[in-house]
Amino acid sequence: MMAVAKHIQVYDTTLRDGCQSEDVSLTVEDKVEVAERLDDLGFDYIEGGWPGSNDRDAAFFREVRKSRLRHAKITAFGSTRRANIRASQDRNLQLLLRAETPVATVVGKTWDLHVKDALRISNQENLEILNDTIAFLKKNVDEAIFDAEHFFDGYFSNPEFALDCLKAVEAAGVDLICLCDTNGGRLPHEIETAVKAARAAVGCDIGIHCHNDSEVAVANTIAAVQNGAIQVQGTINGFGERCGNANLVSIVPNLQLKLGYNCLPAAKLKKLREVAMLVYELANVTPFARQAYVGRSAFAHKAGLHVSGIQRNAHTYEHIDPAMVGNDRRVLLSELAGRANIVYKAREFGIDLDSGNEKIGVLLEELKRLEGEGYAYDGADASFELLMLRTLGLEKEHFRFVSFRVFDDKWHEDQAPFSEAVVIIEGPDGLRTRNSAIGNGPVNALDSALREALIPYYPNLEAMHLADYKVRVLDIGRGTGARVRVLIESTDGKRRWGTVGLSTNVVEASWQALVDSVEYKLHKDNLKPRVRSAARNGAQSRAARGNQESAAASKG
Ligand SMILES: [Zn+2]
Repeated sequence: MMAVAKHIQVYDTTLRDGCQSEDVSLTVEDKVEVAERLDDLGFDYIEGGWPGSNDRDAAFFREVRKSRLRHAKITAFGSTRRANIRASQDRNLQLLLRAETPVATVVGKTWDLHVKDALRISNQENLEILNDTIAFLKKNVDEAIFDAEHFFDGYFSNPEFALDCLKAVEAAGVDLICLCDTNGGRLPHEIETAVKAARAAVGCDIGIHCHNDSEVAVANTIAAVQNGAIQVQGTINGFGERCGNANLVSIVPNLQLKLGYNCLPAAKLKKLREVAMLVYELANVTPFARQAYVGRSAFAHKAGLHVSGIQRNAHTYEHIDPAMVGNDRRVLLSELAGRANIVYKAREFGIDLDSGNEKIGVLLEELKRLEGEGYAYDGADASFELLMLRTLGLEKEHFRFVSFRVFDDKWHEDQAPFSEAVVIIEGPDGLRTRNSAIGNGPVNALDSALREALIPYYPNLEAMHLADYKVRVLDIGRGTGARVRVLIESTDGKRRWGTVGLSTNVVEASWQALVDSVEYKLHKDNLKPRVRSAARNGAQSRAARGNQESAAASKG
């Protein structure tokens, strides 16, 4: 009989603790979107915020009720009642209930130092606060979770009192006690000792909530699970105050892929990277390239030896199959690149290249020269593929460049400028097309003008658009005379590809990347161009319509 994997509850607090990061701020709409995506992933609990602390969090609870979450329970966060009043009279607890969530989580003291110096009450009074608060919540919500603040520091300071606090909430009927390493200073062996003691003292379910001040929040969380905790609290990408919270994006695959616990359905785990990147995007934080499991570099191979290894068996230099968490293996092309990288890349592109082929040497030389100039092909695989095709003499010409021109216009101080681009190309039939387009910037205008000129020949270009555009200044010291590298990511809804351009002129660098991006799409689709008679009419009507649309958009 097969053993059924033990389920570990995933409790996300990105929307509450994660938003304590100094650089993270999410709107109500963002928060609802994150909640929906976490629900889709299969997270069990989503802590939406502290309704007693701000209006935005209260608004989130109103809005999220309209979302049809299929799996996750929304929880509202608050703190135990103040001293000297009944829980039922405590204003913050009333606000907590007003969020109308099925689950309420309250944080309370378990460290005698805090009881004495922060609350300035007796230990006995603290036990009464804990008990009264949980008993009150249990009458009003389906599920009450107690976050034992500073539990680990408390346990090592006064174990008897710390455990008495847990017993006080257990006696009030708490559903789960979550042990918190609030200051993030504890190490895995201490977590193990204190979790064992907590489990011996109380019979209710135990969870774990760690902060990353010692950079072991993930390890601490795992240690707690291995000692019986059934719930892990953390945030997406480890967002949170100071050094952040325990990172669920690492915890979940560690528990599931390495230790055999069950956190999410395997098919959902494949969406982990997508959700991690979405949260970065919404928070407007640059993704951490070296982030475990989901970072851009997490499965990137540079050294030639590694590349020849993974070609034989990916397991030689990878701890898991990147696809399990929705990531990709990347083979980087750089000055370190050896013949093995080139052969591997060629195979990826569908080109069968013998490792003894003399053209490989030519390609390596060319790559070295271009990288010396400042081109970078990490993230611009499509440009590299085109470079390879050119070097091997396999490139097919789809159109010829004749000229382009870009104007920028600003008419009113308080209105955004707009750009117009005119592009002339020579089609595959040798005839010239001149096309103009308006855009919200020069690159946008050039992109539209180029594609509209080509669409009559290649209607498949209609489906593609720019997904991302990045400019990097290379010679910082040279100010406005510096070279810039432009990276463009394009998509046609099915594929996503990156291209690169380099120049002292940002429009020229963008143009190079744009042309590569279009060439790549044409190369991949490999369709025959349409004949000119049909093309001419198409070009004119389309260009005219495009201009009208753009003009209308710029007015609005
Ligand atoms: Zn916390």
